[in-house]
Amino acid sequence: MTTTCTVCGHPPVDSYELSMHGEATCVAHPAEARCALCSRPRHAGEPGWYRFTATTVRCPTCTAVAVETQDQARQHIPRVREEMAALGIRLGQRVRVTLVEPDDLNLDGRGLCLGRTIGRTWEGSPVTEVVGIHIARGLTATHFGSTVAHEIGHAWLAQQGARHLDLVVEEGVCELFAGAWLKRQRTAFADTLRQSALDNPDPVYGAGYRRVREAVVRHGIEAVLSAVCRRGTLP
Ligand SMILES: [Zn+2]
Ligand SMILES: [Zn+2]
Ligand SMILES: [Zn+2]
Repeated sequence: MTTTCTVCGHPPVDSYELSMHGEATCVAHPAEARCALCSRPRHAGEPGWYRFTATTVRCPTCTAVAVETQDQARQHIPRVREEMAALGIRLGQRVRVTLVEPDDLNLDGRGLCLGRTIGRTWEGSPVTEVVGIHIARGLTATHFGSTVAHEIGHAWLAQQGARHLDLVVEEGVCELFAGAWLKRQRTAFADTLRQSALDNPDPVYGAGYRRVREAVVRHGIEAVLSAVCRRGTLP
């Protein structure tokens, strides 16, 4: 495969960096921004880029495979549900997945949030009722699937009555589900996304994923999920 630079179109002669899609960009071109989804650098004024949130952009490659409408989402959701069921994660009650504006998920401006599970807890009841799953509009199909898998994880934990979980454990379990879904896709992009989740320096998401994964390697997935659901801790 000949690699050509996304900016100058020539094979990179000196240092270059690779986006999560494996596209090369010479480091010599000054970057004014990065794709929020694949981290490709954007050269000043480079065309074909789109807004993602108020402060972030998407590159042409990510935009070309984006899930932009509820109809497109509907085409992907059944397969994500089936693949989660194959991993043993089935929701007792079906939860509706809705696309929302990315800005609505990112009001606090910390990190980048791609999805959210909306729950309702009744006084005195041990179970959180899951009302719906919101996913950012405009994700790549792979980001969309892994984000739905992650949020199905939150919904599943809530339906299992696993409440008051340590945030690191809860997000770690959901990242594990997203990672398991990504692994099943068998594409280079999905593998790269999974690796970047494992390498994520975030003390909640990245550290949680690594802690839960380590527990799974040591005790097996069933023992880990049963300890989290029954005792609220890792074995
Ligand atoms: Zn170049
Ligand atoms: Zn991109
Ligand atoms: Zn989460």
